[in-house]
This record gives sequence, C-alpha cells and structure tokens, in this order.
Amino acid sequence: MISSKNTMPKRAPKERVKDFQEVALGYTKEQALAEANRCLNCKIPKCVEGCPVETPIPRFIQALKKGDYQTASYIIKEKNSLPAICGRVCPQEVQCEMNCVLAKKGLAVSIGALERFIADQERELNLEVKPKTPTKEKVAIIGSGPASLSAAADLALYGYRVTVFEALHELGGVLRYGIPEFRLPKAIVDSEIQYLEKLGIEFKTNIIVGVTESLADLKEQGYKAFFIGAGAGLPTFLGIPGENLNGVYSANEFLTRVNLMKAYKFPEVDTPIFVGEKVAVIGAGNVAMDSARTALRLGSKEVHIVYRRSKEEIPARLEEVSNAEEEGVIFNLLTNPVEIISDGNFKVNGLRCQKMKLGEVDSQGRKKALPISGEYIFLEVDMVIIAIGQGPNPLAIRNIPGLKTDKKGLIKTDSRGQTSLPGVFSGGDIVTGAATVIKAMGAGKEAAKAIDEYLQELREGN
Ligand SMILES: Cc1cc2nc3c(=O)[nH]c(=O)nc-3n(C[C@H](O)[C@H](O)[C@H](O)COP(=O)(O)OP(=O)(O)OC[C@H]3O[C@@H](n4cnc5c(N)ncnc54)[C@H](O)[C@@H]3O)c2cc1C
Repeated sequence: MISSKNTMPKRAPKERVKDFQEVALGYTKEQALAEANRCLNCKIPKCVEGCPVETPIPRFIQALKKGDYQTASYIIKEKNSLPAICGRVCPQEVQCEMNCVLAKKGLAVSIGALERFIADQERELNLEVKPKTPTKEKVAIIGSGPASLSAAADLALYGYRVTVFEALHELGGVLRYGIPEFRLPKAIVDSEIQYLEKLGIEFKTNIIVGVTESLADLKEQGYKAFFIGAGAGLPTFLGIPGENLNGVYSANEFLTRVNLMKAYKFPEVDTPIFVGEKVAVIGAGNVAMDSARTALRLGSKEVHIVYRRSKEEIPARLEEVSNAEEEGVIFNLLTNPVEIISDGNFKVNGLRCQKMKLGEVDSQGRKKALPISGEYIFLEVDMVIIAIGQGPNPLAIRNIPGLKTDKKGLIKTDSRGQTSLPGVFSGGDIVTGAATVIKAMGAGKEAAKAIDEYLQELREGN
C-alpha cells in the first residue's frame, strides 16, 4: 500500500494574515525522513525529466534518507544553484511532482518540500562552498533575476570571471521586488546570493545596462560575452474606462512598494502606500494571488479576485490559490471587468464587470472566455490592482543597437540562446514572456553552456 503524503505544516490563516512572516513552516527532520521514505527511487526517474534544470531528485532523496544532508545539498547544487527558492515557489504540481509515478494516485512525493528542507539545512549547517579559480574570460550578466543568477553560477563553475549588473539597488529581480516576504523571505534570497558570491561572482547594483553603461563600455572593460536576463516587469493595463483613477495600481507598483521598498513597515520605513477597505484584484496568476494576500495583510477588509475564466484555468500555483482561499480572498470567476467607476472625485468607487462563459479552446490551449450578453455585476470597491501580465523590460532592448525583438518586444534568440548580436545571449522572461522561476533558471543554464562553447570557439580561433 502507498503511504499517504506528509503535509508540510503551515501557520493558521487567522494568525498569518496579520503579518508578513512566512506561511509555510517547512518539514521537521522526522517529517522529511518520512516523506523521503515514500520515494520509490525509480530506475527511470520521470521526476527529473519534469524539472527544467534536471535536479537529480532521487539521488538527493537517497542521501536525505541516510541523514547525509551535506551530500544531498551538493547533489542538488550540481544542477540547481537556488534550491531554497525553488523549493518554495516552483509549481511542482505541473513539473517534477506531476511526473512522479505516485502522482497517478494523487500521492506524488512532495519533492519541493524536500528540496526546501535540504536547502534550509544547508543554510543552518553553513556547508562549505568550493569555488573554482576563475581563469577564463570576463562575462557580463545583465539583470539579477533567476535566469541571470543561474547563468552566473554555471559560468563561475566553468571558471569564468562573472559580473552581474543590476538596475535596482537590490539583487534578485522578481524574487526580491515581486514575490512577498510571506512566501519567499528575503533572508532566503540573500543567503542564496551569498552562496553565489562565495562562488566568486561579482555583483554591481544601480547600473542600468544600456543607460548607465552601454554594451560598448562593457566591451571596453574587457567583457567577451554577455547574457541579458532583463525580465518582464512592464505592467500591462486593461484599457478600460477609469484606469487612471486614484486607487488603481498595477500589481507591479503595489508589490514593489511593499516588497522592495518595505511599505509594510511604514512608518518605520518611509515608503507610503494607499490600501483600500475593499479591493478588487484583476487576474488569477501568482502575481494576482500575491497582490490579494498582500492587501489583506496591509489591513483591507474584503479582497476579491476577478478572473474571466473558471477555477480550472487559474494559472497560479495550486498551493497559493488554496492559501488565498483559506485567508478569505473571495473568488469572482467567469467575471470580466469592463469599467472602474469613479466616486466623482477621481477616486475608485466600484468595479463594473461582465459575466462570462467558456467557449472553444484557443490557440494557447485554453478555453476562450466569452461575454454573456446583458449580464453584469457591480463590486463595491475603493481600490483596484491590475495583475493581468507583464511585458518585457524595455531599457536594455531599446539601448542595445542591433538587438532584434519579436512583435511583443521579446528578445529573439536562436536555439542556443544567442541573440542577433554575436556573443550576446539571452533567456528568461525577456525571451519567453512572463513565465516561471525554474524556466528562467533553465534558460540561464542553457545560455551558460552556449556562452562556454562560444568562448571556447573564439579561443580556438574558429
Ligand atoms: C509577483 C510575482 C509572483 C511570482 N510568483 C512565482 C511563483 O510562485 N513561482 C514561479 O515559478 N514564478 C513566479 N513568478 C514568475 C517569476 O518570478 C519570473 O518568471 C522570473 O523571476 C523571471 O526571471 P528573469 O530572471 O527572467 O527576470 P526577473 O526576475 O524579472 O529579473 C530581471 C532583472 O533584470 C533587471 N534589469 C532589467 N533591465 C536591466 C538593465 N537594462 N540593466 C540591468 N538590470 C536590468 C531588473 O531590474 C530585474 O532585477 C512570479 C512573478 C511575479 C511578478
């Protein structure tokens, strides 16, 4: 008989919704061992195929079973330089855990929770890092999100001298400014970056490549290859009446104020934030769930998700949807906003929405949302957060001459991740559009491999 899963403990909704401390508590040693013992150590581990960075899942679980956390950690780090982050935010249910043979019975091994356990043990045990002496060329990495961090880690391990240039004053990209503290504590992001520093990677903040320093400047400084991981942080708007009213935020601005600029600590930190009594969040991805749960923690009394499709199509991680439900977020499904209503004084006073139904599957494999003629609802809200997706960050693209983009403004690359410019590679959200941490990391790793090959060819004079 297959034993049941060991659920990772988390804080009670009523308690956690009052603060920004982490919701999930992580396994105890006993729980981790019990969960690890459920792994069948399959000869052909399908779980690894489901992971975009091919984390050696059964191997690290076998080491965990023996209580050898150090070896388990080294095994993970062969492929994944940010395990404490991936263990917390990856959508495992549609990746590694979906491929677990036990998933058919709904009892997949909780791989993400085990990865998180090992990464947290590693931090506590302060395991030794073995940096490689950098003997190879200088490589510049633009941006410090997960795509860039994993490209930087692999290049450092190949022996390159790597510098990461970040536009913001803090490192981590969305991991820092987007995903809230209660889901991904910034101390975790700091410690993952400290590990990368120990690998010998140099980090420079407050540098917008293309503005503060051009690519030509960096070439003059001796950089021989480049990776652009500039991400997709440009908010998308609905284009409906009322979007310019006071009380309407893009999720990007709202979350950046709270996470990067620590508005949740106001007045201790001097970043002000307006928070409505009743809030509508438009969209149902991770960004929308984070915005809704952040609004609750900042004191909103009623928070609505407004999503034009049904529950089945919700793109957010399952765990975050159920966390949001437990915390009292109200889901208005098959509902599409058509107008943000003013109070007559340029402030939000409500949201008019049309009821929707599902139609045929569209070109992206999702059922189309179709309006039901004449059926509308009104939500009485004083704040609206728009979380319907992000476009590519334009600054690097606009200011690097010759860099080709597609219709959506995303950087075009070949199968190796090389852009239209020789020696300039790219990956992550700036190439795919808004996606996931692990996909961005996978792209960073692929590009690191391609950069290594490119520089080797250059060295050999090919
Ligand atoms: C609120 C939110 C929640 C999310 N939750 C999840 C989740 O739970 N699970 C998941 O898997 N994914 C999640 N995602 C998606 C995931 O975070 C992204 O797919 C991922 O971060 C993309 O990584 P990236 O490295 O391509 O870019 P980013 O993380 O966007 O990093 C890009 C970095 O480049 C910098 N930059 C841009 N231009 C320049 C320049 N010219 N010079 C120097 N630096 C520059 C930016 O300042 C930024 O720091 C979430 C996204 C958001 C916004």
